[in-house]
Amino acid sequence: MENLNELRALLALPKDIVITTHRNPDGDAIGSSLGLLHFLSKTGLHDVKIVSPSEYPDTFSWMPEVDKIIVYDDEPERAQKIIEQAGLIFCLDFNSLDRIDKVGEIIQPLKAPKVMIDHHLFPEGFADFILSDTTASSTCELVFDFIEMMGLKAELDKTIGECLYTGIITDTGSFKYSTSSKLFRIVAELLDTGVQDDVLQDLIFNSLSEKHLRLLGHCLNNRMEVLAEFNTGIITLTKEDYQNFDIQRGDTEGIVNFLLKMRHVKMAAFIMEQPTIVKISLRSKGDFSVQEIAKRHFRGGGHKNASGGASFQPLDTTVKKFKELLPRYKHVLNA
Ligand code: 5GP
Ligand code: MN
Repeated sequence: MENLNELRALLALPKDIVITTHRNPDGDAIGSSLGLLHFLSKTGLHDVKIVSPSEYPDTFSWMPEVDKIIVYDDEPERAQKIIEQAGLIFCLDFNSLDRIDKVGEIIQPLKAPKVMIDHHLFPEGFADFILSDTTASSTCELVFDFIEMMGLKAELDKTIGECLYTGIITDTGSFKYSTSSKLFRIVAELLDTGVQDDVLQDLIFNSLSEKHLRLLGHCLNNRMEVLAEFNTGIITLTKEDYQNFDIQRGDTEGIVNFLLKMRHVKMAAFIMEQPTIVKISLRSKGDFSVQEIAKRHFRGGGHKNASGGASFQPLDTTVKKFKELLPRYKHVLNA
């Protein structure tokens, strides 16, 4: 960030700060927002609030102060007022305002300076201060970098550490993807703050309900299709599945990754018939980029190996469209 000194000057004076993150926030979105909130609150100078466009999954209900997050969908007027009064706005874990829907429309015309911290591909330049690193594992890794750049690493504590560790393990699938020696050094420093990694792993990854596990079984047994010719796996979920399994926000998290457990599968697609849209989660192994498919064909984006998007057509049409794309990518999928 070239203009860091300017931001440092802004942060030297008391401010009403709003942190916002993407719709359907995941562990990295919530972890980076809360980590930054605890860090910025520590000086006692600022009044810091988090506004999320939509509700966060239950998995993160243990996180310190998560219950203070203002959810735009639940309290649109209050959220709007808070955003409009902000003197500084942090945008975490997204890189284009359309990822935050209405909240983006509110933020766009505001004069308050905006700070973007993000690791997704192809950032849009809507912010005044940008910390964007597409090689970073997570936005949490970048919040750590930000604290270091500010020269305030001494302020790191267990609470901030737990928040940042959460986003790192969720976005790397417990250190399976986008790791680096730099990341492991950061994690070592987080453990030095007192973070108990085994406790957090259990809270986040070993806390499924029976319903969850049965849903996973259903997906793998009844809803999975393997297209061996294209080294691709697909899982679809219908509206009826949503009802029968009482699927709530966050319940489908992680299911798409199971497809990659098959040796030959290079691309995984999880296609979900949600109330107003058909949501698509894409994952890949190695050099095959699902970001391009998400962006070009499903109005989405993300990372090379993990992207998402949506379709506004019925489920079967969407699945058909996805399958019809595969021959175009066959040479890469079979490489
Ligand atoms: P997931 O499949 O877990 O929802 O998302 C995987 C990655 O793709 C995340 O980094 C997420 O931010 C990104 N992503 C998911 N859905 C969308 C979308 O609709 N638009 C864009 N631009 N990115 C998305
Ligand atoms: Mn992220």
